[in-house]
Amino acid sequence: MWLIWTAAALAYSPENPDTQAFLSFAAEFKAEKPLPARADGYASTGELWGQVASLVKEYPELIRPEHLGSSVENRPLWALHLGAPGQSERRVMVVAQLHALEWVGAQAALELINDFVAAPHPGVALVVVPVANPDGRARVETDLRTGAPKDTYRRANTNLVDLNRDWPVNREPDTWLWPRLPVTRDFYSVSPGPLSQPETQAIDALARRFQPTDVVDLHAYGGYILVPWAGRYEHTPDHQRLMAKATEMSEAMPGRPYRAMQLCHWTRTFRALGAQIDHMYATYGADSFLIEIGNIGVRHLHQDTFRWYNPKDPRKDLDKVSGALWALIRWETR
Ligand SMILES: [Zn+2]
Repeated sequence: MWLIWTAAALAYSPENPDTQAFLSFAAEFKAEKPLPARADGYASTGELWGQVASLVKEYPELIRPEHLGSSVENRPLWALHLGAPGQSERRVMVVAQLHALEWVGAQAALELINDFVAAPHPGVALVVVPVANPDGRARVETDLRTGAPKDTYRRANTNLVDLNRDWPVNREPDTWLWPRLPVTRDFYSVSPGPLSQPETQAIDALARRFQPTDVVDLHAYGGYILVPWAGRYEHTPDHQRLMAKATEMSEAMPGRPYRAMQLCHWTRTFRALGAQIDHMYATYGADSFLIEIGNIGVRHLHQDTFRWYNPKDPRKDLDKVSGALWALIRWETR
């Protein structure tokens, strides 16, 4: 009994070894210069972790870092736990930035951590992975700092695997057309095998331990709240409930709401094979959502791929995502 109590007390305390490791990791960024104006509105990686570290220091009893594993280039993957999963009926998992250029998701994840620390919701445990592809993010940050050409496109991890095509469910297309389109070959092909990358393996292991009731995957762009299936045209057996939740999330957004729909109904032929939302729904029974933050822009009008994915003034979109995430957190605990 004493041992269990000690472990529980240690979990949310400055003595937790992962807390110490996280604070040392966040402190390593101290000397870096601010990002150039091209990235206005977005925290640099050092600033992002610095802000989380301040919260961890200030509220060690509320927020607990967990070291999930390492990326291909050995960067640590971090989760932040808020609330007690063992005592919570609802366990909400939020993953951001599986895709290198989609910084707005990490920014939304950071805000969620801030908001939940300020106002935890009883009966709900939250775990947030703000940067799921740290190598890809680092590459984009180097591009920004060194002034790489503005049309430089980054999506995958170091092994050039798209981390949102690396999950075990719905890897085979249900249409002959999709795999034959050039866009599939160039941008959206399925990974070499299920969970072939250390980043997806670490996030899957987290889901196995945490047993989420709800999962949200934060991406950019488009202005959609998407439900499974991503890889099949047919509806899931829980389509009505998933759409009811997605619609409530959409209706909680200030201003013009994002559109709720099934992911692969984006166009008649589009399929996202091996996507995380299909895996989290099918394997863990979690109600799963993918939020495409920001509205669709025409690429050539932006020229800068960073701006193509990340709105210049992200405030409006961050408020929309926050509205949606809180609607989900409060769902059935109101
Ligand atoms: Zn994405």
